[in-house]
Amino acid sequence: MIHEQTIRSAVEASGVGLHSGAPVSMRILPAPSGSGIVFRRTDLEGFEIEAIGPNVARVSYATSLMKKGVFISTTEHVLSAFIGLGIDNAIVELDNLEVPILDGSAQPFVEMIQKAGIRKQRRPRKYLKIRRELEWREGNKFIAVYPADGYSVSYSINFPHPLIGKETFQVELSNGSYLRQIAAARTFGSREDEQAMRNMGLIRGASRENCIVLSRDGVENGPLRFPDEFVRHKVLDLVGDLALLGKQILGKVVADRAGHAMHTALVSRILRDQSLWEEVTVSGSEPEGAVASVSQAAAAAPS
Ligand SMILES: [Zn+2]
Repeated sequence: MIHEQTIRSAVEASGVGLHSGAPVSMRILPAPSGSGIVFRRTDLEGFEIEAIGPNVARVSYATSLMKKGVFISTTEHVLSAFIGLGIDNAIVELDNLEVPILDGSAQPFVEMIQKAGIRKQRRPRKYLKIRRELEWREGNKFIAVYPADGYSVSYSINFPHPLIGKETFQVELSNGSYLRQIAAARTFGSREDEQAMRNMGLIRGASRENCIVLSRDGVENGPLRFPDEFVRHKVLDLVGDLALLGKQILGKVVADRAGHAMHTALVSRILRDQSLWEEVTVSGSEPEGAVASVSQAAAAAPS
């Protein structure tokens, strides 16, 4: 049986928020079985916000959670790292409203978790296994989820830039492929859009150290970590947003030019319609990275 996991010891990092530009210190702490991922604002008397769909607040260029008027912004990269490493339970303490952007990818969070170590817990992990397909389109954007035994993602983007254009990336998130192919892909933005975004109060913390900066016809701060780093980062974001299901998913997700708004809408549609999925436990050895490829999923008793 595959069990829940947490980290072994506390780890910390500090940096700035991508959008707020605010300095922030972060600590990741172990948490008991069944508690999920919980953000804690140490600057607000330890106020806690669970990383689950119903707490999604504002979604535009990043995903934010809100509870009783308290925000946690830009949650997607650290949540993506938790899924990638199979961490079910942890507390993420922040002394400000936004998760630090660090290098713009999930790699620094992966390294923190690896430094802390991973601990297997007593409770068998319950997966959210997709039973029926769900798909919808909004203009030229598309997102869908289909039944599958593992967790796989196929993402397409079409970005009007000579280095990007149409890119598609398909990955089975098992056997360490998240760590090798997704975790290090950085966020990106174009110099042309910079002023408009700053005028909206966004990207106040952006720098050449925490995002790929696109010039009119190239990259200002190369080299890229992957030739198709852009679409890989979209996979990273999707995995982080779907973490708000509160469980690891077993299904195939297909997205075309989607973004945080469609990712989190998928989360709420799945959570709203319980005929789309069931909870299962999975027999097999411990997963090294994200979900193991699952051949023997067994329906779990409802709890
Ligand atoms: Zn991102």
